[in-house]
Formats: sequence, C-alpha cells, structure tokens
Amino acid sequence: MQEVQSIDQKIQNPILAPMSNNDHEQVVFCQDKATGLKAIIAIHNTVLGPALGGTRMWPYENEMEALKDVLRLSRGMTYKASISGLNLGGGKAVIIGDSRKIKSEALLRKFGRFVDSLSGKYITAEDVGMTTKDIEYMSMETDHVTGKPLHLGGSGDPSPVTAFGVYMGMKAAAKKAWGSDSLEGKAVTVQGVGHVGQYLVDYLAKEGALITISDIYEDRIKLVSGQHNVNVVAPEAIFDQAMDIYAPCALGATVNDETLNKLSCRVIAGAANNQLADEKIHGERVREMGIHYAPDFVINAGGLINCFSEIQGYSSEAAMAQAEDIYNTTMRIFDFAEANGLTNQVAAIQLAEKRIQEVAKINQSW
Ligand code: NAD
Repeated sequence: MQEVQSIDQKIQNPILAPMSNNDHEQVVFCQDKATGLKAIIAIHNTVLGPALGGTRMWPYENEMEALKDVLRLSRGMTYKASISGLNLGGGKAVIIGDSRKIKSEALLRKFGRFVDSLSGKYITAEDVGMTTKDIEYMSMETDHVTGKPLHLGGSGDPSPVTAFGVYMGMKAAAKKAWGSDSLEGKAVTVQGVGHVGQYLVDYLAKEGALITISDIYEDRIKLVSGQHNVNVVAPEAIFDQAMDIYAPCALGATVNDETLNKLSCRVIAGAANNQLADEKIHGERVREMGIHYAPDFVINAGGLINCFSEIQGYSSEAAMAQAEDIYNTTMRIFDFAEANGLTNQVAAIQLAEKRIQEVAKINQSW
C-alpha cells in the first residue's frame, strides 16, 4: 500500500510549495493542446460571495511562476472585495502565453468552458493582456463573466473606473503627505500607460500635475504623449528620476530592495497589483522611509466595483460614486495604521480580514 504523505512532505513537494503559505479553497489547472491553452484558476476565499477576479495573459517563464502569480493575485482579490464592502470572494486566473502572439478566439472560448465548469464559484473579467473583445469570446461559453462589452449589455472596459479610484487614493495619500490633496505641481511618474495608466494621466493632466510616463511599447507612449504634455522616460531609467509620487501601473513587485534604494518619492499610489515585492519587508521599509504607500488592492478596486455593478444591474453613476469613496477608505486605513503602529498594507489587510470574519458569523445560521 502506498504510504500517505505527511503535511510536511507535501509542503516539500515543489508543486505544492507555493500553496503551503496560502489558504486557497481551490486551484484548477486547465490545459487544451488543440488551442494551446494553459491556464490556472485560483479561488482564494468565497465567504463573502463568489470569487471574482480578472484573467491575466502573460508569457510566464514557467508554470511555477504562473502559479505563484495567480495565488498572490487571487488573495489580493479577496481583500480588495472585502475592504471595498462588496459581497464577493477572491479569485483570479492566468493564461500562460504572449497575448500579442498566441491569443485566439478558440483559446479564449476554451478557457470560457473551464470557467463554466466551476458553475459560478469563479467569475472572470479583464486583466493584463485582455480586452473586452476577449471577454466577449469567453461569454460565448459561460455566463460567469463580467466586464462584457457595452453592446452585449455589459459595463465595458473597467479601466476608466479603476483609474478614477487610483486617482482618489492618490489624492488621499497626498493629503497625508503634504496636508493638501491637490496634485497641482506634483511630479508624478506613471509606470505603464496601458488601459489604466492612460486614463490616470487624463486625471493628472486635468489637475496640473507634472507628469512623467514610461512604457515598454512605443505605440502606448505615442498615444499618451500625443494627448498630453508629458515627459517620457525609458523603462530602465524610471527610478533614477526625481518624483513626488510614483504610480506603478504596469506589473507587480516594483517596490523592492533595488528600487527603494533609488526611489525619492513621498507617495506610492498606482493601479498595479502586488506592488510590494515582499509585503512585510518592503511595507515596513517604505514606512521607515516616510513614504505614504496607498495599498494597491484598496485603490485599484474601481474595476472590481464596476464589474460588481454589472452583475447587479449596471449603473455607471453608482460605480463612479463608489469608486470616489476609495478616498475615504484610504484615509481610514492610514488612520488605523497610524493609531495602531502598523504599516498601511498590514492595516488594510487587518480591516479586510475583520469584515470577512464578521460576515462569516452570519453565515453560521440562517
Ligand atoms: P495593460 O496591459 O493595459 O497596461 C499595462 C502597461 O504596462 C502596458 O502598456 C505595458 O506595455 C506596460 N508595461 C509592462 N511592463 C512595463 C515596464 N517594465 N515598464 C513600463 N511599462 C511597462 O494593463 P492595465 O489594465 O492598464 O492594468 C495595469 C495594472 O493595473 C496591472 O497590474 C493590473 O493587474 C492592474 N489593475 C488593472 C485593473 C483594470 O481595470 N484594468 C484593475 C485593477 C488592477
């Protein structure tokens, strides 16, 4: 008879290792050779409701990198929904591959079928490397999708609402740093002018911020610098710039040992998920450096708010009003962190977990 592995042995198993530090409910590996689909869906927590989180398409170096990313991202979604007062759980999906090379209708529809097999426990939406057209393909195979295009009765691209929420969170952080939430004359560096970064630049320009942008794609730089008076900096030189506010709007983990040795800002506030390479170490370090870090999952919740609104019967006004409230939520976290000697990240997680624990109590009986 085969010996049953102890928990310790299982944790040493390299495939399960990333799982051992997490509390996920379910992780699904999806593969379809005919379309070239390789994806992972991670459901972190469904106490508050079905797990909602976008699908990211990215050319991960290997499956382990993709797994680590989806586990981290789905946990962030649980906290994002909770801190935003939404009745949603946390989940996320990643498709392994370059969206500019291997994405096809068939691949996306096949992925939609995998989502459908979870019977609504996971609801997908747009993330990096995805467009509303891709969501449309997925919606041909499953109803458990949000952020659908307007012509299909959906709420369209959530990025403008995300950008508005990020802008609100940035203003709250500015208020903490400088005593005023005006961004006029503040030097703001936006890393990544994709869907969210582009709209964020619109708000910043309107308010008279001094904007610097960076992107790895020339077409994105051309588009945004054609619309606004901005400085452009090469991706590798971004942290050498003097700036008041760093707005990461590309990928995660850009607040790390290396960048913190260079960063000169007083505020970090952007859309990217998992900005702190190590939540504990770099959360603590930014606090010591006197940087006001607006926790990413708090201020980038606009897209989730918009998607939730679509599920309930879409109202753009209601979604924008709720995104505006991100200003107050961010302030509440800063105050809680200050009062309890916590980093802003830990304060935000504690408040998010508190709501989940409290709502879990009402689920104990009907
Ligand atoms: P996007 O793919 O449209 O934009 C990202 C941009 O960053 C791209 O233009 C890309 O070329 C650029 N980029 C990548 N690496 C870079 C680098 N090293 N330096 C400079 N630029 C770089 O994605 P998006 O929808 O704008 O999302 C941006 C971030 O915000 C992601 O981390 C995403 O998870 C997060 N987010 C997005 C939403 C949303 O509503 N779209 C909601 C919440 C969080």
